[in-house]
Amino acid sequence: MAFDLESALQERRAKSLYRRRRTVDGPQKPQMIVDGKEQLAFCSNDYLGLANHPEVIKSFQQAASKYGVGGGASHLIIGHSRAHHQLEEELAEFTGRPRALLFSTGYMANLGVISALLGRGDAVFQDRLNHASLLDAGQLSGARFQRYLHCDPASLEQKLQRSEAHRKLVVTDGVFSMDGNIAPLKELTAAASKHDAWMMVDDAHGFGAVGQGGRGVADMFDMGIRELPILMGTLGKGFGTAGAFVAGSDALIETLVQFARSYIYTTSMPPAVAEATRTSLRLLKTEDWRREKLQTLIQRFRSGCEQLGLELMDSNTPIQPIMVGSAEKSLTMSEALEAQGILVTAIRPPTVPKDSSRLRVTLSASHTEEDVDRLLSALEKTVRENQG
Ligand SMILES: *Cc1c(COP(=O)(O)O)cnc(C)c1O
Repeated sequence: MAFDLESALQERRAKSLYRRRRTVDGPQKPQMIVDGKEQLAFCSNDYLGLANHPEVIKSFQQAASKYGVGGGASHLIIGHSRAHHQLEEELAEFTGRPRALLFSTGYMANLGVISALLGRGDAVFQDRLNHASLLDAGQLSGARFQRYLHCDPASLEQKLQRSEAHRKLVVTDGVFSMDGNIAPLKELTAAASKHDAWMMVDDAHGFGAVGQGGRGVADMFDMGIRELPILMGTLGKGFGTAGAFVAGSDALIETLVQFARSYIYTTSMPPAVAEATRTSLRLLKTEDWRREKLQTLIQRFRSGCEQLGLELMDSNTPIQPIMVGSAEKSLTMSEALEAQGILVTAIRPPTVPKDSSRLRVTLSASHTEEDVDRLLSALEKTVRENQG
């Protein structure tokens, strides 16, 4: 008998949880051609506007001429190019860690790190709103899996106290991807160190957006390698390219090279992506005006929403979700905005907990103040039409 695929698909549709893809023509930028129509988009993670930066593109093109397109093999066979190596050294310096290691995606970095470090007899402690890749990595590792209340050091401490695991690893998003708030790292780290646990932070959304020179949450909280031995970042968001990295001690990086299966058994990222990222790293850390512009846009958006009586979350980052509640309503509002030429994604379960569906607005340094005003007036119209 064939699998019954249709009923699960139908059920998802009936609950307003069905996902569909849109087709984009042209580059990532605020004004995009989406499904053949021009839209003003507030959905991208390209926070600094580097994905389509002429210098980043030029580095990519030149490196493609020099290295070709494909990585050719895994890093441990013959796929580790000079471009990868130099980027790793620059990321180590950028994060103030002895070494950094590239992965092809953030998802793979998280799977690789957690399953290389933990196994049966160990325990992983995760914020309950951590990114799916961290949760999946915890499951894959075979370690005892414990979720603590969101950004709640007391809840973490309680779980650590009761644990008799051999190795204990505390893992949190730096900037939460669906909420935009920042983890209370000082308090979490204090709890971890009291119970001999290691800390890992996934700062996919912090790098580029927060901290001195875009150095992320580790810089904001002034956390060196002792307080924060495992620092992970992705390159597909603020950096505007693709891939991910883990920064830490020489022993950590060597452990990952030897044991992280998602590092070992996969083709290296295209060297041209690494070269393009070297350029985006230079722009990211030197062009403070991008972060300053973001802050201006964030403040303008937040005060506009306040006037409209919209419920925002406690966020000073480019991730500015508008709380809606039901999946159905978030979808209706997103469609109403789209009809006005504005794209904002409705984020629904299982990405976020039940009844916390939201419109996830993300801002970029390449938006203008007029773009934000257009969003606000479209929101005003949408709210008026969807009242009650
Ligand atoms: C996007 C994201 C990832 C995955 O990174 P990719 O490079 O897109 O695979 C991991 N963690 C967090 C917190 C993210 O937001």
